[in-house]
Amino acid sequence: MKELWFQLVQTFALSAVRYFLLAGIPFLLFYKFFSTTFAKQKIQKRLAAKADFVREILYSMLSSVVFALIGVAILFTPVVNYTQIYQDINAYPLWWIPLSVGLSLVLHDTYFYWMHRLLHHKALFKYAHLVHHKSTNPSPWASYSFHFLEAVVEGGILAVVAFVLPMHPLAVILFILSSFVINVYGHLGYELMPKGFRHSVWFEVLNTSVHHNLHHSKFKGNYGLYFRVWDRLLGTEHPDYVKEYDKVQTARFGTSTEEARADAPAQFQTRPQQ
Ligand SMILES: [Zn+2]
Ligand SMILES: [Zn+2]
Repeated sequence: MKELWFQLVQTFALSAVRYFLLAGIPFLLFYKFFSTTFAKQKIQKRLAAKADFVREILYSMLSSVVFALIGVAILFTPVVNYTQIYQDINAYPLWWIPLSVGLSLVLHDTYFYWMHRLLHHKALFKYAHLVHHKSTNPSPWASYSFHFLEAVVEGGILAVVAFVLPMHPLAVILFILSSFVINVYGHLGYELMPKGFRHSVWFEVLNTSVHHNLHHSKFKGNYGLYFRVWDRLLGTEHPDYVKEYDKVQTARFGTSTEEARADAPAQFQTRPQQ
């Protein structure tokens, strides 16, 4: 029991350190030290209030406690014997490590899309998801700013991944880290994608910071996490998304989308729209 408490405190501490480093450094760079340099990349021109940052940090700490509890319950109790987690790195080929991380992200995107749509149901929104939507102009601090109930279902992905995919603990760590980094990018408030991205095939598939920012400012549409796939398939992508992305693109690069298309590497170009 004493060991479990130790694991819990250690997991929470690691989670908190990760949060303050991976959300804190981008916050300092984009919001404090170089805000003028990055001004053209800012998605919403207004600034979030200090009170927003404080609320986001406090809720993120609460979420970190919930995530630590879920992580310890799955990985450091006999529950682990019923999961697909394997300790011997040679039990599967080494290439399975990056592939399992990629697959866990695909699984997470699907899990998140449906969970997120459920949280937007009027019977649940006010109780479980409103806390996250208080950040109408999100910053990196909002990445884990969830109500307790939302944190429980958000953390549930760890159970899904552990029971469905054979994962080495290293792959679990890589999954959690990459997921958090992408989450910080989604809440950054600044668009980072390079100029040629707009007319590459990646634009058709991947989410951007503008995509998730629009979800925060408009409340409806854009429910996906990493990919646009579910939103496009089910017609839930916000109709203004591409227009909003182009607005930021033009502000950043000062070119029309036609010129940007010409700049995209040929192999990534999509057919021009008629
Ligand atoms: Zn939402
Ligand atoms: Zn969000």
